[in-house]
Amino acid sequence: MQTWQIGDVRITRIIETEDTSMAADFMVPDATPEALAEIDWLRPHFVTADGQLISSIYSLLVESQGKRLVVDTCLGNDKPRAVPDWNERQGAFLEEIAAAGFPRDTVDYVACTHLHPDHVGWNTMLVDGQWVPTFPNARYLFSEADWAWLDQAPVTPLGDYCGDSVRPVVDAGLADIIVPDYAITDEVRMVSTPGHSPGHMSVLIESGGARAIVTGDLMHHPCQIARPHWCSPFDFDQSRALNTRKSFINDHSDSPILVIGTHFATPSAGHIVTDGDTYRLVISDA
Ligand SMILES: [Zn+2]
Repeated sequence: MQTWQIGDVRITRIIETEDTSMAADFMVPDATPEALAEIDWLRPHFVTADGQLISSIYSLLVESQGKRLVVDTCLGNDKPRAVPDWNERQGAFLEEIAAAGFPRDTVDYVACTHLHPDHVGWNTMLVDGQWVPTFPNARYLFSEADWAWLDQAPVTPLGDYCGDSVRPVVDAGLADIIVPDYAITDEVRMVSTPGHSPGHMSVLIESGGARAIVTGDLMHHPCQIARPHWCSPFDFDQSRALNTRKSFINDHSDSPILVIGTHFATPSAGHIVTDGDTYRLVISDA
C-alpha cells in the first residue's frame, strides 16, 4: 500500500484499477505510440514497451488534524456503466479501506475533485436494491459549479451516474455544495482548477513546511506534462482546461511541491522539472 507523509498529513493510496484499459483514443488521443516514443522518461511506469498508456483509478485516504478524508471514490461496485471495464464491478474497495484504518463509518469527509463517474462511484453502495451513501457519517464536498451542471443534465453519454452516485448523497442531506478555495482542515484545501469540468478542483496539502497537490483530472496522464497541449475528449471546456493545465505545470515546476496525479500509475507522484523547452515528472521513488 503506497503512502506519503506531508508534514503531519498522512496519505494512503487505495487502487481500484491500474492497467492499459484507458487507452489513448479514450483518454488522450494525441498520445499515439509514435508520439509517446519521443518521451523516454514515461517508460516503464506510465507507458508500456509497445507504447500503450498505463493508468490508474484510485482513492486517497488523507488524515489531517484528527479528521479522515477520502479524495475521489473511484468507480464503485454494481454500477451499470456503458464502459465495459467500469460496468457492474465487484471489487474489494471497502475491505481495503478498512484494512488501511478507514472503516467507512469513521470517515469525516469525502471530497470529489469533480463529478465524473470514475470519481464518485463509491459515494454510494447498493443495499437491498437502493443506492445509499457509503460513508454515513461523512460530509460529502461537491463543487457548486459541477453540481449545477450535473443537476441540470444528469444523463450524460457515460450514463445516469448522477442518479446512482451523486443525487442519493444530496437527497440524504450529506452533501455540502462548496465554492473553492475551501479549507477542509488548516492543512488541506480544495482549490479551483476549472476546465475539465465546470467546477473542477484540486487538493492542496500544506503541513510543517511540506506541500503536495492532488491534480484531479486537469491532466489524465504524465505525458501531458511533456505535452500540455494534448487534451482529453472528456474536457468540458478544452481551452479552459488547457489554460489551467499550462498554469498548473508552470506554477508547480522546479519546486519542492509533490504532484500526485489522480490517474497516474504507480508510483503516481513526483516533482515537475523543466526539461528543455518543456517539462518532465521526476518520480519520488526512482
Ligand atoms: Zn477521471
